Amino acid sequence: MFLSTRVAICGAGPSGLSQLHAFESARQCGLQIPEIVCFEKQNDLGGQWNYTWRTGFDEYSEPVHSSMYQNLWTNLPKESSEFVDYSFDKHFGQAFTSFPPRTMIYDYIRGYAEQNNVRQYIQFNTVVRWISYSEDTKRFNVLVKDLKKDEMRSEEFDYVIVATGHFSTPDIPYFNGIETFPGRILHSHDFRFAHDFADKHVLIIGSGASAEDIALQLYKYGAKSATLSYRTKPLGFKWPDGIKEVPLVVKIDKETAYFKDGSSQEVHAIIFCTGYIYHFPFLDDNLRLKSPPRSLYPPGLYKGIFWLNQPRLLYLGMQRSTFSFNIGNVQTWYARDVILEKIILPSTKDEMQCNMALWQEKGKSVQNLSDYVHFQKEYILDLIAATDYPRFDIDRMSNTFLECIKSRTENMLTYREKTYASVLTNTIAKQHHVPWLNEMDDRLENFIKK
Ligand code: NAP
Repeated sequence: MFLSTRVAICGAGPSGLSQLHAFESARQCGLQIPEIVCFEKQNDLGGQWNYTWRTGFDEYSEPVHSSMYQNLWTNLPKESSEFVDYSFDKHFGQAFTSFPPRTMIYDYIRGYAEQNNVRQYIQFNTVVRWISYSEDTKRFNVLVKDLKKDEMRSEEFDYVIVATGHFSTPDIPYFNGIETFPGRILHSHDFRFAHDFADKHVLIIGSGASAEDIALQLYKYGAKSATLSYRTKPLGFKWPDGIKEVPLVVKIDKETAYFKDGSSQEVHAIIFCTGYIYHFPFLDDNLRLKSPPRSLYPPGLYKGIFWLNQPRLLYLGMQRSTFSFNIGNVQTWYARDVILEKIILPSTKDEMQCNMALWQEKGKSVQNLSDYVHFQKEYILDLIAATDYPRFDIDRMSNTFLECIKSRTENMLTYREKTYASVLTNTIAKQHHVPWLNEMDDRLENFIKK
């Protein structure tokens, strides 16, 4: 029945891989599945986690996708984000730190893909150039470019699933006088190593996770100071000497930055940690998600997945997320079951809109972190209830997340030394033999015993 149906998945990061796994696991259970093609513009899977030294443009002059930096360690415990059907224990076979470096997460994601036999569906080095929908054929036309062969081709699909993420296209505001600044200016998207900033006074603009973590990287790798300039409110952590928070920049005059509270600071480099925009230049305008950053429930997406005006266009992982890989993963089970017609979407746009309005309304009452976690928990449970996605103790996973935030607030420099238990296997993480602040060797081999 589905043999003539074709599904395109854009992107082979964690969400795209989960979607492939959802279909492949159905196939392995004997179900008929549609023809699936996953287009990935990078030369390997992993999305953000596929680190590159490049910034700006890649070897094919395409914009670099990953915002990953060389020495990134997770800022949340791995126990609050492991794939429910692929535990860290299963992959590594041993306990290790709760806050692994990127090399370990990348290895884990690759293991997830290999064990689920999904590589067969991915066309690497293939960038999606344009997607439009034809009312005549009732299909999507997908124009892709094979970057290696330098060839364009177009194909027709019945469904399109967008899993390209939303942390790749920087949002860079203007500040008065910045053109007089003689030093290096970059966005966190292009930040790769903190060594470059040793002995420098660095201005960080923004107060999100990138601002926080890059400030700590600068501290660890010997910057003279990091000044974080916030727009709405400070992060408010107990920062070590050398890191401070100030209100928003009002003016930059050569090597001096002036702030709203009248203070000023000598600056040798500026890092914009001002977040990312939702950017889907490959989608026809009537298919394109336009959302404010950090949206709890992006507008126009029924169940946070289906494009209201054409529900055969799906988006994955577009909401602000605490459950990391699992939110995308849960969505893919639901998406698959809709495509396999096990779940039937409401027959009218009005019904979908009503449901979306309920969630939007709920979102309005989110005031603090714990409300936010609760909101996401409800969202996940709503999706899980309709599918056979493996059940897990989501309350315990939420608590792990909240406990980590608390310990991060208590001590920025040591929170990565805490260990948490896996909600899936109960294995308690092992403290790494060197504290994060002193550990300069991020290689995988340094974190696991061979
Ligand atoms: P983000 O969470 O969207 O934060 C953007 C920040 O920029 C906000 O503080 C925002 O301030 C500020 N901003 C935006 N426009 C501004 C303007 N015109 N002037 C001043 N400030 C402005 O983006 P992010 O911090 O890059 O984080 C992105 C993702 O990366 C997160 O999911 C995070 O968890 C992840 N990340 C993870 C790690 C790690 O695992 N170690 C490290 C870094 C990042 P307002 O509050 O005023 O809007």
